[in-house]
This record gives sequence, C-alpha cells and structure tokens, in this order.
Amino acid sequence: MLWILASLFFLWCAYREIRNSVVAPPGFDAPSPISKPYLAMVLALALLFAWPTVHTWYFQWFLSTKATELADHHRAIVHCNTTFDTMLDTEMLAAGHANPRTGKIGIQHPWCDILMGYLRHPRRASEKELERLDIFTHESMHIRGEMNEALTECEAVQRNYRAAKLLGVPDVTAKKNALDYYNVAYRQRGRIGGMQGAYYSDQCAPGKSMDEHLPDSTWATP
Ligand SMILES: [Zn+2]
Repeated sequence: MLWILASLFFLWCAYREIRNSVVAPPGFDAPSPISKPYLAMVLALALLFAWPTVHTWYFQWFLSTKATELADHHRAIVHCNTTFDTMLDTEMLAAGHANPRTGKIGIQHPWCDILMGYLRHPRRASEKELERLDIFTHESMHIRGEMNEALTECEAVQRNYRAAKLLGVPDVTAKKNALDYYNVAYRQRGRIGGMQGAYYSDQCAPGKSMDEHLPDSTWATP
C-alpha cells in the first residue's frame, strides 16, 4: 500500500510537470518548458514503486487460475496476505485457509514469497518450499469441496506433481519434488501425531483406500 502511495506521488509530480508546460503555473506569465530529465526520473520512480504491487497482483492472478484448474474448475481466488493482512486475519496461525463457498484462498505472509522462490529454483527446492507447494494444492482441494483435513491432504499429496507442473516446473523435477514431499514431510506428520496427525492417514498410499488412482498421480509409475 505504501509503495502504491509513493508511486502515485511520483505520477502526480509527472502530471504537474506536464501541466506546467501547458498552463502557466501560479505566479508565472507563461508556461515553463518541460524538463525531460526530471520527467523521466519521476516516471521511472513511479514505475519502480508500483512494481512490487503489480508483481504481487500478477502472481495472485496466476495462482488463482492454477488453483481453479486443480479444483476441477471450482473458481478459486488466491490472496497473498501482507504482514498487516496476516495480523488482521482471524486464522492468523494457519499458513493458509480456504472457503469453498466464496472460493477465497488466503495465504499468510511470507508463504507466497517462499512459493515464488521455489518456482525460481525448483531443482534446489528446500523442505519448506515443498511444504509451500503442498499448502497451495491443499487449499485448492478445499475449494474443490473437501473439508476433512486428512482426505484433503491426501488429495493434495496425489496432486502435488500435477500442481508443480501447472506452475511451470519441468516434468522430472515436478515428480521428484512431489515424491520428496510425500516420502519425507507427509510421513513425518504421521510420526509427530497431535495436530499434525489430523492431516495424516496410513490409508494415503498407493493401492490403499485413499488412493484415487489418478493417471498423473504423484505416486503413479509411468
Ligand atoms: Zn486444510
């Protein structure tokens, strides 16, 4: 928000410079000639300050279209929370949350940035970044209509490969990333138990009752 205000201020400076070259400014008899270096500078600053916001808007739009696709075309609207949004969020402690009635997915700060980082270097994905990919798929599954956490998480585990590919990760890396999440982080949840245990089921495995037998499942053998 502050960035946008700064950007608007520089746009206003540019507007004032152009206006003064057409209409005489107060106290002057004639319009003053336009200063091209000044105009270029304020326009460049306006663009620079607008960039983070425009980039976040673009990323939210990109995630929304991909989440909609993952949710079998139930419309999803992804919002990347800023630190301020997170403070005001009633579900502040959850990394993400989704409402299947409105299609809204809220992602807490700084998880969108972590996801962006993952997409820049998927081959060097950290455990945290893979977790982030899974949260994105998990929330999309809520939009698809599932609210039971263990089932939602298992649907996500089976679709993380599809999700990574939709987000632009190359095929082989997407498969490896999705399997790494399933074999390491997911299984860890079962061992930790408690809150984490609610997201885990030993039935979430190839051939077990939660296997949806998706042709492009994370664990399907090609
Ligand atoms: Zn959930």
